[in-house]
This record gives sequence, C-alpha cells and structure tokens, in this order.
Amino acid sequence: MDLGIEGKKAIVCAASKGLGKACAMSLAKNGVDLVINSRTASELEATAAEIRAATGRTVTAVAGDITTAEGRAKVLAACPAPDILVNNAGGPPRGDFREWDEAAWMKAVNGNMITPIMLIKSVVDGMIARKFGRIVNITSGSVKSPIPELGMSNGARAGLTGFVGGLARQVARHNVTINGLLPGPFLTDRLRSGRVEAARKAGLPVDEYIAEFFKGNPAGRAGDPFEFGEACAFLCAASSGFIVGQNLLLDGGSFNSTMG
Ligand code: NAP
Repeated sequence: MDLGIEGKKAIVCAASKGLGKACAMSLAKNGVDLVINSRTASELEATAAEIRAATGRTVTAVAGDITTAEGRAKVLAACPAPDILVNNAGGPPRGDFREWDEAAWMKAVNGNMITPIMLIKSVVDGMIARKFGRIVNITSGSVKSPIPELGMSNGARAGLTGFVGGLARQVARHNVTINGLLPGPFLTDRLRSGRVEAARKAGLPVDEYIAEFFKGNPAGRAGDPFEFGEACAFLCAASSGFIVGQNLLLDGGSFNSTMG
C-alpha cells in the first residue's frame, strides 16, 4: 500500500527505542525524512544510523529532554515545518497515589499532557497553512481502561486525549488530523524492565516470563513494536485525512468490548 507520504518531514519524539523508534522506522520506510529525539545522544545516534541504513532517508538526531522548553526548541529548530508529528515521552512511575506529591503530578502532567500540547501548538498552524498535517499522540491503553497503580499516567494521558478530542475537530477541515495510538503490552525495554522483579520471583528469564504471562492475551502474546509503528504510519497516510480525533487501541483484544 502506497501511503502517499514520500518526501514528507516528520518529528518523532522519544524515538531511540521502543514504540517511538518503531514509528520512526515505519515512517522512514514509507519515504519520510525524520528528526528523531531522545535524551541519550549515543543511543539516539545509533538509532538514526540504523534507520538511515535500512531506508536511505535523511534522519537527523536531536538529543534533549522533550519535556523541557529547551529540548522542544532544539527539535523544532531542526524541523520547523513538519508534516508529521509523533508525540511520545517516557511514562510516569507506578505507585500508590498517596506517595505522589504536587511535584510528581506536575512532572507527569508536563511530560504526558503539556509537552505534546506545546508541540502541537508550535506546528499546527503551519500544517493548516500547508493543508497537510498528521499528528499522532502515543498515549496508553490506560486511557480507555485505567490501570490503578498507574494513576498519574491514567490522569495525564486522559487529559491530553480530552483536549485533542476537541482540537482535532477544529483543524480537520484543513487536512490536519490528530489521533491517539493506545499501546497495550508491547515488547519494549519499558515492558521488560517492569517485569524483571516478577520474572526473578517466578525463576524465569524475563522474555520467557513475559511470553508465559501474555499467553492470556486474546492474541496469545505481547505486541511487536513493529506492529505499532505500522499503525502509526497508516494514521499518517495521505488517505487517512478522514480519521479524526480517534483513539486506536492496539492491545491484542484484551480490552473486552463489542465495539470501540
Ligand atoms: P522505552 O522502550 O523505554 O523507550 C522510551 C524512549 O523514550 C527512549 O527512546 C527514551 O530515550 C525516550 N525518552 C524517555 N523520556 C524522554 C524524554 N523526557 N525526552 C526525550 N526522550 C525520552 O518505552 P516504550 O515502551 O517505547 O514506551 C513509550 C511510551 O508508551 C511511554 O510513555 C510508555 O509509558 C507508553 N506505553 C508503553 C507500553 C508498552 O507496552 N511498551 C504500554 C503502554 C504505554 P532516553 O531515555 O535516552 O531519553
């Protein structure tokens, strides 16, 4: 399927690893030139080299913390007029809400709500003027089905989803779309690191423990980040302009519902 986005420019945030990297790779395979970002410069450069080698596209690595104004300014300086923006950042920690003070909440809301909103604000009017824009927010399945111990993630990401639900409907007539991609369990470093202790208790290597654990998912497994990246590229296709303000859950069917 030709997605019709060859030669477009994308910013993909938090993309040295995991879901962000998978989105970057799938976009580049479809002919998109990239500015990718994450904090650890060495890992980011290695990912940029890997995507360049695999796709032949231009991939510019901009190291920095995307949750800071300075980090965002560096990324936007490298790509002031993106056609595509993929918002992503690390997620808030697990815990009991009684342990979270105001500063912890501010950090979570800044990283998973304010940061994507600030980036959208910086690029959306240019997209409107150019009559093409695709914005994908990587959020979480917790937006639909809250995970009690991830209360800050549930709250901050639901806030983002609510805000963009309205904005998406204000910009759609200019061929600018904003949609959410909601990961269930995907085999990334984040998922692995969260299972290390449980695997140790079960006396199993982490990947074996994860394989066993996710046999209960209707798909019988955890997701492959490649599958996530491909869904992102699809939402960014030229022909996806009528997909507006949607939240696509990729969880192997574990959210049990007849519709939606
Ligand atoms: P991952 O494998 O740990 O990768 C995270 C990426 O984000 C890395 O490239 C990391 O690089 C970068 N990053 C983190 N904080 C950043 C910051 N402040 N500024 C710039 N880059 C930053 O994580 P993942 O599994 O792909 O998860 C991505 C997002 O999806 C997270 O918000 C996570 O909570 C959410 N999610 C994931 C799953 C899943 O199953 N994997 C499920 C639900 C939700 P540096 O550390 O070098 O910056």
